Amino acid sequence: MSASTHIPPDKIASVSPPNLVSDAQLIAAAADARKLAYAPYSGFLVGAALLADDGSIHLGVNIENASYGLTICAERSAYANAISRSHRRFQTIAIVSHGGVTPCGACRQFLLEFSPQLRILVADANALAEITVHQLEDLLPNSFSAAKLTPPLSHFGDST
Ligand SMILES: [Zn+2]
Repeated sequence: MSASTHIPPDKIASVSPPNLVSDAQLIAAAADARKLAYAPYSGFLVGAALLADDGSIHLGVNIENASYGLTICAERSAYANAISRSHRRFQTIAIVSHGGVTPCGACRQFLLEFSPQLRILVADANALAEITVHQLEDLLPNSFSAAKLTPPLSHFGDST
């Protein structure tokens, strides 16, 4: 990782114009976050950096649990971080792992809730300069979203 792509930790979650955050910088932030992943069972460390519409960056890591099923992925961890700071709209998420994997099925559905047009950047932790770009709509075609919830929940139970 070159020094020019590194975002200092004190700048993370601070606001800067989103077009001033390069894909390489977002990947570098995800790689830094990955160092904090809690994955004692699989050893598969994942870091994520989520770019909100206002230019703020929110980090996430995978967090495993002895019960396995309670494990949360880095992508959802980043969203929880951002949403708890009042952010709702996002442009891009960068994900760094061994092998540069794309989000799991559960995360794809989770990401769709807030950002159907999301760009997804993935990179191998050992080759950060080789960034693959995906669109969420390509990774989750024919998706289910709130727009398909009919009739509205407010009519549930109405027998008239
Ligand atoms: Zn996931």
